[in-house]
Amino acid sequence: MAAQQNHTAHRLLARYRIRPTKRLGQNFLVNRGVLEKIVRAVAPEAGERLLEIGPGLGTLTRLLAMAGAHVTAIEADRRMVELLEAELGGRPNVRIVYGDILEVDLDALIPTPRWRAVGNIPYNISSPILFLLRDQRQLFSEAILMLQKEVAERLTARVGTKEYGLLTIGLGAVGTCERIFDVAPGSFWPPPKVTSSIVRLRFPELPPYPMLDLAAFTRVVRAAFGKRRKTIRNALVMAAAEGQYGFTPTPRAIDVALSTAGIDPVLRPETVTIAHFAALTGALAT
Ligand code: SAH
Repeated sequence: MAAQQNHTAHRLLARYRIRPTKRLGQNFLVNRGVLEKIVRAVAPEAGERLLEIGPGLGTLTRLLAMAGAHVTAIEADRRMVELLEAELGGRPNVRIVYGDILEVDLDALIPTPRWRAVGNIPYNISSPILFLLRDQRQLFSEAILMLQKEVAERLTARVGTKEYGLLTIGLGAVGTCERIFDVAPGSFWPPPKVTSSIVRLRFPELPPYPMLDLAAFTRVVRAAFGKRRKTIRNALVMAAAEGQYGFTPTPRAIDVALSTAGIDPVLRPETVTIAHFAALTGALAT
């Protein structure tokens, strides 16, 4: 089964004379079983609008469209766009857009929010894509993404573990993340060096911290993690003294805010919960 799909992917690549480009993070999913599992995880409703990031050869695009979704797929590789237009362009519920997901005008692309985002995304830009989706969450209710397992573990990390950090807190402050299943390197061509995971990010209409000023929160969290092995108090004071991350409160203001937020100043930042970082952000603002 997998071999047959591999053959299909190879045939498409050969027919269009395309060699996968490392720079664009091109690892194409060739395992039919995994593709079907992703479609089941997405479970598109008939007529639902999806944004697919990095459709590549269009294998997932095709299955999502066959499941009844209206797919807008944004692809940065001209050669892929030509292939996609030829293979799928005739379908009324598939729209191919040539562009860079990090540069495109998403408001223009998505006139009727909120859509869901889907994609086996390029791993070299997965963090910027995750933060982009977060910051554009007025457009997206959910994202189902293929990521490096290591990134998926950071997204779903528990407080106090070594995976817990900027990604966990930055995304956890506005939604939830669930690792659905793992995918072995052999399911791709060419195979990546790492295991992958499918994750589901949800950006609920009512976010976990409705009053949170996300820009201020980001400055606080960056300042706290700027010096990883320091206590949270010392990390914040040092970041403020150096004027890093636009974080500028006085040592006194930091001490008062830590106390107001109920955070023990000698804790390491990786042991401070998202709720406490949110409380600290609020306390620093007053
Ligand atoms: N979804 C396909 C392809 C995954 S490979 C599959 O599962 O087989 C990642 C895809 O993202 C490639 O097609 C690559 O060209 C595309 N890509 C890379 N950088 C991109 C960017 N900045 N914006 C949009 N697409 C990008």
